[in-house]
Order: sequence, then C-alpha cells, then structure tokens
Amino acid sequence: MDLDYSPADEAFRAEVRAWLGEHVPDPPLVSVNTAAGFEAHRRWERELAGAGLAVISWPQRYGGRDASLVQWLVFEEEYYRAGGPVRVGQNGLFLLAPTLFAHGTAEQLDRVLPPMATAEQVWAQAWSEPGAGSDLAAIRSTAARVDGGWLLSGQKTWSSRAAFADRAFGLFRSEPSAERHRGLTYLMFDLRAPGVTVRPIAQLDGEAGFAEIFLDEVFVPDADVIGAPGEGWRVAMSTASHERGLSLRSPGRFLATADRLAGLWQRGAVAGREALGERVADAWIAARAYQLHTFGIVAALEDGGALGAESSLGKVFWSELDVSICETALDLLGPAAEVTGPGGEWPASYLFSLAGPIYAGTNEIQRSVIAERLLGMPR
Ligand SMILES: Cc1cc2nc3c(=O)[nH]c(=O)nc-3n(C[C@H](O)[C@H](O)[C@H](O)COP(=O)(O)OP(=O)(O)OC[C@H]3O[C@@H](n4cnc5c(N)ncnc54)[C@H](O)[C@@H]3O)c2cc1C
Repeated sequence: MDLDYSPADEAFRAEVRAWLGEHVPDPPLVSVNTAAGFEAHRRWERELAGAGLAVISWPQRYGGRDASLVQWLVFEEEYYRAGGPVRVGQNGLFLLAPTLFAHGTAEQLDRVLPPMATAEQVWAQAWSEPGAGSDLAAIRSTAARVDGGWLLSGQKTWSSRAAFADRAFGLFRSEPSAERHRGLTYLMFDLRAPGVTVRPIAQLDGEAGFAEIFLDEVFVPDADVIGAPGEGWRVAMSTASHERGLSLRSPGRFLATADRLAGLWQRGAVAGREALGERVADAWIAARAYQLHTFGIVAALEDGGALGAESSLGKVFWSELDVSICETALDLLGPAAEVTGPGGEWPASYLFSLAGPIYAGTNEIQRSVIAERLLGMPR
C-alpha cells in the first residue's frame, strides 16, 4: 500500500493552496444563514468556479476538471485548512449532483449542473416531513399525474438552506395504493413556483438554517423526474449513501478542526488543561483514522465499487468526532466558551455539531444498519 500522494497530486495541492491563500475572505463572510450572507456565499462560489475549483471532480463540460477522487480529497484538505467559507451549494454539489450522475438524463445533467457549479441555482433537499424522518418511507406528500407532468402537494420540513435557496429535490408519493417503498417518485421543483410557501425555522443558534416547505398543487414537468416514476426509493438510497459516506463530510474538515484544537491546547491558559491533552491527541488520531478510512473508500470506488451500507460507519464516526472535538475545545476555553459572535467560533461549532448525529439519518438508525446489514445481526 502506497499512501504517498503522486507528484501530480502534490502540484495540484500547491496550486489550490496558493489560490486559497490569496482569495479566502478575511474577515470571514457573514453567516450563510442570513439573506446578506447567503448572497455573499453565492458570490464566493462564483469566484471559486471562475478559478476552476468549484467542482473539480466533475467532467469539464459541466464546469469541472475531471480530477480524481484523491485530488478532490486534497482540495477538501486545503479548503478547510485555509478556512474557506461554508459551501452554500453543498446540497446540490454533494447530494443532487452524484444522484444525477448515477440516475439523471443527459438533458438533466446539461441543464442542472452548470448553474449549480456557479451557485446561480442553489438547491435544498426536501425529504423530511413532520411524520417522516427516520422512517422516510412514511412520506405523505403526493405527486399527482397530470398532462405533461405532476402536481406536488404536501409539507416538507427541516430543509437546510431552503429559506434562501432557489430549487429543491425531494421524494413524493405518486402511487398511493402501492407498498410503502414503491410508488415514490424523485422530483426537482422550483422553490419560487406558484403554490410553494417557504417558512424559515430558527436553529439552536437562532438563525434560519432550515425551513418548512408547503406545496399546494405545484406543477412540475416530466423533465424534472429523476429516474423512473415509482423508482424514487432506489434513487434516494443512492443519494443517502453519498451524504453519509463521502461527499458531505470529507476528512479535510476534521483534520483542520483537530489541528485547530491542538493549537488551542498549545496556547491554552486554562488551569488543568494538561489533563485534556489525551482528549486532544485522541481527536487528532481519530481525524487521521477517518482520513485513512476514506482513502479505503476512494480506492474501492476508483476500482469500480459502489457506496453501500458501509457509509453508515463513516457517518456515525464523523458526527461523534465532531461533537467530541468541540466539547474538548469548550473545556479548554473554560469560561471563554460562553462567548458567542466574533471570536466565539468554537461555541458556534459546538451548537452545530450537536445536529450531526441527527441529520443525514440519525446515528441510532445508522447503528441498526451497521448491525443488520454489515454484521448480519437479526433485526
Ligand atoms: C441541522 C439539520 C439539518 C437537516 N437538513 C435536512 C434537509 O436539508 N433536508 C431534509 O429532508 N431533512 C433534513 N434534516 C432532517 C433529518 O434528516 C431528520 O431530522 C432525521 O432524519 C430524523 O428524523 P426526525 O427528526 O423526524 O426524528 P424521528 O425519526 O422522529 O426520530 C426521533 C428519535 O427517535 C429515534 N428513532 C426513530 N426511529 C428509530 C428506530 N427505528 N430505531 C431506533 N431509534 C429510532 C431517532 O434516532 C431519534 O433519536 C435535518 C436535520 C437537522 C438536525
């Protein structure tokens, strides 16, 4: 096993590091969960796209540069190391795009991907409903067949970025009499279409990080169905594997956070901080372990493999690592951990980390997947 990067990967790293070093906004952009911050993040994405760095692993015709997954990991490491802004387009870039590459038509790829790469169109994921979160197959929002398309009705909730986004992708029940996992259709729709009402929901930090979406007979053309009508569950499971396993939370994020934690420990002035040294070292080791695990996944994918139930292992690992890194940071900060706003990045990260074991499928559900599908234990 050769874990060294190739000269080409190292050259790519140097290019990315130099560009980010000159362009990452300082001071940081205002929060993406505000109207002004959202637009500032869109402008940043355009700048990134202009430098050919927004979607490096995509084919060139859609704005990418056909980079390997290893180079994508390198990009992510550099991006987080440089403190790059939150990717406002992440639902589209990391969830919808891989789904379209696997199940979309050529027309959909041509139409949807270029404006996604430049954040001209920002996407939200509209899956969860008030009665359907862990039990996603319980969704009740409907897609009714009409001439040339579908009428969407119902309620979606917890939709990240939907407060300011342009379009959404979601699952709808198109054959009410079919068995739960059948009769679902995966559709894209416009968040500003007639019949759509978006109501922001404040998160723990008080900002509108997600929203409810109400749909009242919203027309969607056939061209916006992904996969075949009635095949939505299969398509959704391929999105979920990407969300949990690789694209949403790359190791770069945790390597950078663990390095920042180590820096905090080295500078720390809190009495008794020595006792926290082992937790800091554990966090750093765990971030490296997640990186090595991801190399394994990428190697398997590049050999033609597919992401499956193993994604659940990564999801539990990164979400719990995030919480533990932030908890250690707050313990190191002592009373300063009460400070929010500028200079209070660790408390803000801690609040968001608490959502990690919930979004992308709760960790209780992931543990059941691991037990039943990877370990072969009885249901
Ligand atoms: C920050 C954040 C962002 C989100 N963004 C999006 C988004 O963009 N789009 C979207 O569609 N959704 C989004 N979600 C919603 C998320 O996917 C759901 O919250 C999640 O799937 C859990 O569903 P639920 O909230 O309905 O909880 P429930 O399913 O009601 O679960 C409640 C509790 O019961 C446990 N539980 C439920 N069933 C079982 C079982 N069978 N075995 C063991 N334990 C069980 C759960 O683990 C959980 O602890 C987001 C959530 C958060 C927190």
